[in-house]
Amino acid sequence: IAPVLAIIGRPNVGKSTLVNRILGRREAVVEDVPGVTRDRVTYQAEWLGKTFTLVDTGGWEHDAKGIHARVAEQAEMAADLADVILFVVDSRVGATATDEAVVKMLRRKKKPVLLVANKVDDANQEADASFLWGLGFGQPWPVSALHGRGAADLLDAVVAKL
Ligand code: GDP
Ligand code: MG
Repeated sequence: IAPVLAIIGRPNVGKSTLVNRILGRREAVVEDVPGVTRDRVTYQAEWLGKTFTLVDTGGWEHDAKGIHARVAEQAEMAADLADVILFVVDSRVGATATDEAVVKMLRRKKKPVLLVANKVDDANQEADASFLWGLGFGQPWPVSALHGRGAADLLDAVVAKL
């Protein structure tokens, strides 16, 4: 059975864009409006000859439960079935209260987490990513899921943990 890599994070941080980057094709639905991805979508992926199952998350509705609870709930389900977790944060926005809720949940899991500072489209934006050291998951990986910047380095680190 292939190991599972789960991609979690708030709506609109670029999870589905990162999925497409990893797959090398446009399969996950990317939307400017948050909340398009269905609850959980899985794909078969490969990097450096290693095959793994990729889980994209999202698709919660803004109901009475509130966005924090929804994101944390989805993230927890994905985290529970994952071998390795990619926690994606929007480096232009920084860590929000919703991100902090996910951080709390992730700390309770004894699973490897790689922190992705997404939307670092050029070198000037790398400083934004360094603030995310404070989340306690070690080195933030500066990535542009949209343009591919940093994605290969991230995937090298991912498959080393799978
Ligand atoms: P999700 O809700 O987390 O799955 O986010 P999506 O993948 O649907 O992306 C949300 C928006 O962010 C879309 O408009 C994407 O084009 C944009 N986006 C995703 N990754 C990047 C990135 O690396 N750089 C920039 N500038 N925009 C991005
Ligand atoms: Mg999505």
